Amino acid sequence: MIQNYVSTIQINSTKAEPRSKQKIEAEVEKFRKNCKITSLKGKAVDILKVLDLSSEIYGYEYEVVEDLDLPNNVYAETDLIDRKIYIKESVYNRAAEGSTRDRFTIAHEIGHIIMHTDKIIVCRGEEIKKYEYPEWQADHFAAELLVPVSHIGDLSVDEITNKYKVSKKVAQIRKSRANSLKNPA
Ligand SMILES: [Zn+2]
Repeated sequence: MIQNYVSTIQINSTKAEPRSKQKIEAEVEKFRKNCKITSLKGKAVDILKVLDLSSEIYGYEYEVVEDLDLPNNVYAETDLIDRKIYIKESVYNRAAEGSTRDRFTIAHEIGHIIMHTDKIIVCRGEEIKKYEYPEWQADHFAAELLVPVSHIGDLSVDEITNKYKVSKKVAQIRKSRANSLKNPA
């Protein structure tokens, strides 16, 4: 039985150090360098390999657990105090088969481990701004880890989906991020 982990609900009531998209992208670039996954332009990252490598390099643990060990609506959990990611067996297996949602889940949890272990601040009764919201930050980290904005160039949404094994929705978000960097408002 897993005890004592920080649930998503608890994470939702906390805020993180403020981070812009640009700052998160820089953190992912550093992360990719540290994990030696810099030269993968046009190729989907092997997210399970990244999980393995980064757990060694960044000194955290992960465990693939039986689906029943985590609540129904939860795919994975990150214990920010013990620095450990718990991943449902079904999620891990589907990620191995290339499922876009499950690949994103694992990348998202890596984002929490890399960004949120020291600096989560408990926040009660105070409005949390988007750029201080850990879930938003972990989503942006995952998106940049799976599809670096600098790789997008003229790729279409479909090409991004196929090459980088992300959902259409993530590909669209990345495409509009790349466009906004090309044509600043
Ligand atoms: Zn999360």
